[in-house]
Amino acid sequence: MSRLSHLEIHMVHRIGWLRAAVLGANDGLVSTASLVVGVAAAGSGKSEVLIAGMAGLVAGAMSMAAGEYVSVSSQTDAERADLARETRELSETPEAELEELTNIYVDRGLDRDLAEKVAVQLTERDALGAHARDELGISETVTARPIQAALVSALTFAVGAVVPLIVALLAPEAQIAVLVAASTVAGLAVLGGLGASAGGAALVRGAARVTLWGVLAMAATAMVGTLFGVTVG
Ligand SMILES: [Zn+2]
Repeated sequence: MSRLSHLEIHMVHRIGWLRAAVLGANDGLVSTASLVVGVAAAGSGKSEVLIAGMAGLVAGAMSMAAGEYVSVSSQTDAERADLARETRELSETPEAELEELTNIYVDRGLDRDLAEKVAVQLTERDALGAHARDELGISETVTARPIQAALVSALTFAVGAVVPLIVALLAPEAQIAVLVAASTVAGLAVLGGLGASAGGAALVRGAARVTLWGVLAMAATAMVGTLFGVTVG
């Protein structure tokens, strides 16, 4: 494998992780900042705001982890079921499987003779590995890891969520909502730009898109908080 394609594969892999991390942090930032702004807008004191924010961080991180664990686990289950069926087919109909593998290589551009030779040699070496990789698209590097994915998801959420909490902790009580909103908009612009550049998209448009939704979310919770504060206060 040429050095370039090896680097490309690693870059694609790294970009995948970066984008997932940016999305997780974005979720943490928007949902916790909106919660903090809403509770502060209702006229609550600093300690209530911090307790609500902390509860939001923990609840959000746990639900992200649970959701990621469940979705990646079902992907793992599907991969395992595919591999089990493939193992069965390889033992029950080895000729048909060899033909199938040969046709995959012919479709990829090899001439028939060469495709047969490659299929025979790879089958002799590791039949299941060859079918998993070239027929099912399952390989070591992309195997789903539910616990790892859940931990990364919870962690990135918490990293995003801790920003408005620190701002709320340091801000004077009367300015918590404004300062959290302003710092969150700045944070979202950075995350949006990062996510966009990771995906090779326009930086400014990426930043604007993410920031807009963050501002809408905080405006909605600030409105609810203010209404709540007026009716209950
Ligand atoms: Zn097969």
